[in-house]
Amino acid sequence: MTERTFSILKPDATERNLTGKINAVIEDAGLRIVAQRRIRMTEAQAKTFYEVHKERPFYGELVGQMTSAPVVVQVLEGENAVAKYREIMGATNPEQAAEGTIRKLFAKNVGENSVHGSDSQDNAKLEIAQFFTEDQIVG
Ligand code: ADP
Ligand code: MG
Repeated sequence: MTERTFSILKPDATERNLTGKINAVIEDAGLRIVAQRRIRMTEAQAKTFYEVHKERPFYGELVGQMTSAPVVVQVLEGENAVAKYREIMGATNPEQAAEGTIRKLFAKNVGENSVHGSDSQDNAKLEIAQFFTEDQIVG
């Protein structure tokens, strides 16, 4: 089934000029980038976005990291896009990520791990709506 997922190329990736290389992995996997914008995430946006993690010890560090440099927010579309993107992203900790995955190829560590991808279709819808209006998504 064709579906959409939400992606962020994180500050550690934009800082190292990896937008194109990561987009190439995404497109080579058959996912279509149907919306994309480079933004500076505000502290309020980052806090809301990662609210589920607010009790975790790394929450402050995570919010600080996400607001430290520009990010690229994206909507990806394709067959089983949510699961497909999680698969090509690789495990949260790059040391555990499979060969060829974005995090294995590019991530610096478990915190600065280059990309975000939605973990469910419901969350994908909520996350997309935080950053894009429907008319900005051209499938
Ligand atoms: P994922 O991004 O793979 O869905 P989580 O939702 O569990 O992972 O965590 C959200 C983000 O929080 C991670 O991508 C990473 O940037 C950060 N994070 C997760 N676990 C840790 C940790 N143990 N130490 C530091 N940062 C972490
Ligand atoms: Mg997650």
